[in-house]
Amino acid sequence: MSFELIQLPYAPDALEPVLSAETIGLHHGKHLQTYVNNLNRLLPDSGFEDLELEDIVETSTGAIFNNAGQILNHNLYFLQLKSPAENNLPVGKLAEAIDAQFGSFEAFKEQFTGNAAALFGSGWCWLACDTDGKLSIIKESNAGNPVTKKLKPLLTIDVWEHAYYVDYRNRRPEYIAAFWKIIDWNVIEERFLH
Ligand code: MN
Repeated sequence: MSFELIQLPYAPDALEPVLSAETIGLHHGKHLQTYVNNLNRLLPDSGFEDLELEDIVETSTGAIFNNAGQILNHNLYFLQLKSPAENNLPVGKLAEAIDAQFGSFEAFKEQFTGNAAALFGSGWCWLACDTDGKLSIIKESNAGNPVTKKLKPLLTIDVWEHAYYVDYRNRRPEYIAAFWKIIDWNVIEERFLH
């Protein structure tokens, strides 16, 4: 099989001013497209060519893992975003689970922000859950994804510099602080429930 670049369910400028149309254009149209092209070039006769994307990420190593992981990670990232809103809060069963496990949304937000800010180099910070619905915050370097730990990815922030450098230069904490406004919590709850 070959993979295709996902279509964004919003206009390139829909996330402004948190993320500019220029950032989305480069990040989705150039960076993610390159990972898709690379994987499609690497897959033929690799032994992974008939697998679903998640299965490739769970079982591969090296260049195939790096490119497949980056496709899975970016698909999860881009499809969980929406236009900015103030007081943008988790909903439903996920909100209850966050309160139960972390004490409050504010406590969760502080812990997640700290992990995303402290991640050295390129990578991703995740909210994930196990098969019992137990939540955890996971730091992954480079193309890492919680599926390799048998955990379900729910929410993620891309902290590779390409995700924020156009808009925030080296100020990763400002990007993380603004990111909370554009999370589509309905999508995150949907992932949590299914
Ligand atoms: Mn990225």
